[in-house]
Amino acid sequence: MKKWLLLLFLAPAALCASAQDYVFNRYPLESVPYAELPLGAIRPDGWLRGQLERMRDGLTGHLDEVYAEVVGDDNAWLGGEGDTWERGPYWVDGLLPLAYLLDDEELVAKALKWTEAILTTAREDGYIGNSVDRPYVRGLQRNLSEDWWPKMVALKILKQYYSATGDSRVPRVLLAYFRYQAAHLPEHPLGHWSFWGTWRSSDNLGVIYWLYNLTGEAFLLDLARLIHDQSVDLTGMFTAGDVFRRPYSIHCVNLGQGFKMPVVWWQQSHDSRDLDAPKRASAFIRTTIGLPTGLWAGDEPIHLGDPLRGSEFCTASEMMYSLEEILRITGDLTWADYLERVAYNALPTQATDAFDARQYFQQTNQIACTVEPHPFMTDHSGTDVVFSPLGGYPCCTCNMHQAWPKLVGNLWYASADGGLAALVYAPCEVRARVGESVDAIVREETFYPFDGQVRFTVDFEKKKVKSAFFPLHFRIPSWCKAAEVTLPDGSTLHPKAGETVRVNRRWAKGDVLTLSLPMEIATSSWFDGALVIERGPLVYALKMNEKWSRKEFPKEFGYGPFCYEVTSDSPWNFGFRQRDLAHPETAFSVVTRPDDGSYPWSLEGAPVSIFAKAVRIEGWQAAGGNAGPVAYFKESGSDIGPSETVELIPYGCTTLRIAEFPLRR
Ligand SMILES: [Zn+2]
Repeated sequence: MKKWLLLLFLAPAALCASAQDYVFNRYPLESVPYAELPLGAIRPDGWLRGQLERMRDGLTGHLDEVYAEVVGDDNAWLGGEGDTWERGPYWVDGLLPLAYLLDDEELVAKALKWTEAILTTAREDGYIGNSVDRPYVRGLQRNLSEDWWPKMVALKILKQYYSATGDSRVPRVLLAYFRYQAAHLPEHPLGHWSFWGTWRSSDNLGVIYWLYNLTGEAFLLDLARLIHDQSVDLTGMFTAGDVFRRPYSIHCVNLGQGFKMPVVWWQQSHDSRDLDAPKRASAFIRTTIGLPTGLWAGDEPIHLGDPLRGSEFCTASEMMYSLEEILRITGDLTWADYLERVAYNALPTQATDAFDARQYFQQTNQIACTVEPHPFMTDHSGTDVVFSPLGGYPCCTCNMHQAWPKLVGNLWYASADGGLAALVYAPCEVRARVGESVDAIVREETFYPFDGQVRFTVDFEKKKVKSAFFPLHFRIPSWCKAAEVTLPDGSTLHPKAGETVRVNRRWAKGDVLTLSLPMEIATSSWFDGALVIERGPLVYALKMNEKWSRKEFPKEFGYGPFCYEVTSDSPWNFGFRQRDLAHPETAFSVVTRPDDGSYPWSLEGAPVSIFAKAVRIEGWQAAGGNAGPVAYFKESGSDIGPSETVELIPYGCTTLRIAEFPLRR
């Protein structure tokens, strides 16, 4: 096995503000197939750019005004006497990449206030952040200042800031902080102040390995081993799997964030058990706590995957980041399919279209978003599923921002063979150095994930470059049985599902490669035998009309100033009969709409509809704001009403929906 890889390509100044390297692993870390591109090398386009602009105009761009008491100027990370814990860094972990992706000066300035504060207040002994605990004030976390956990988020921020700017203070401050950790962890281990860091330390390890690859400082690997040894044994837990059958055994966000730990550590351990552990976990999750969005029932502890249980926004954010890291490290396309499942189903629906409010928990079968009791372990006075800045618990208000910007950063990687890899699809443009120091541009035009046509056009930064030899890697999703790749000369390839296609050739300016990924309808079986309908990367859900109304909260209620409640008068108690679905090719009719520039993740903008024959399940009635109990799978009987045609739209376009349907034999 090759354990040598350090490929350094100096990116030209034209690509970004500073010289950047594509950082592959340095010996003795495991060699990896792909490396991150510098922040800003991939620019969002089409609907994805629209999504990021909504974030800019919504909470991401304005959280310091909307939530000034926590992330405003008095935050202790900025030198104030306010919040000292995770929420400030959480916000900047998403704000900073958004600012650079949109080249937005105002947002960059907001993010740099935080990076400057962290860099300039770093102590001589390497410690970063505030170390003074202060008395309790409602709504703030002013104690546990020295906890290792929130600092892990700050490390992620500094790494991204360096990627965008090349500021040489970053490696210096990080090296000093890691020396501080090496000196103090033996006496004050990861779990000394709180247990969160023992589950979430893969973020600590990720930045240590990145800095090791930059500097070659040997003590960093000793520190990584120490941190791993002080962390929860996730490889052991995922391999045994019994925790997934035990309700309340894991915190939902810890599972998402810890999901990558075995593979991150595998780079140093070289133990195949670590590499396999997330695969074991995902197989256990699929048949226990799993939801069709790729996430799990966890409100906040995990439960068997009942579609009425909650799924926290932070779980989506953290699981996406975990999947992105695992995908880059392993190149295993299973994780790209999984990433799209979370990004294109769970993520779009948990914030409002204007990105001015979010849910703490989403339900898979969600017939109302109202302030009332739900079957969750943590209830927060009934505010968990309404859309608001601060309903439920406010971690998500700050941690929701990293999900979309980091997805953009993982649409393309530098490949170890000197090329580029597109493993996750969305409209964008990438600029990177390839082959023998050629600065290439690849435009990716597509309406994916709603449509399976993806068109890549090659160009070069320098006018005098007419062609260059380099490989491009593409993913064929596991759901796609009839993929076709059309090369610039018109010839075609027919790769298998789940395959990486590597096209190694001389590319001329203007060359076009087209990927055709036909999407077929598939059905799958979930909680208690419930039926789920999928097409390509998207899960489909019953379309219901939505009535949005704003409700003001009294100040003493403690869940922010207001919420949006969503109700509907659409019938929702539909199920399917097995015999109606016996011939899927005729059971469903699909209507697609082209990309007309409107916001696709909305009820009115939904680009795909599936029509099918369903039946009313007469006894399935609402219980408060929740769908009541039902046998998801049983013999057809007296509970079946008349057959009707129903319209399904992508789950990510819905707010109210049924996505797990009763099935009648
Ligand atoms: Zn949260």
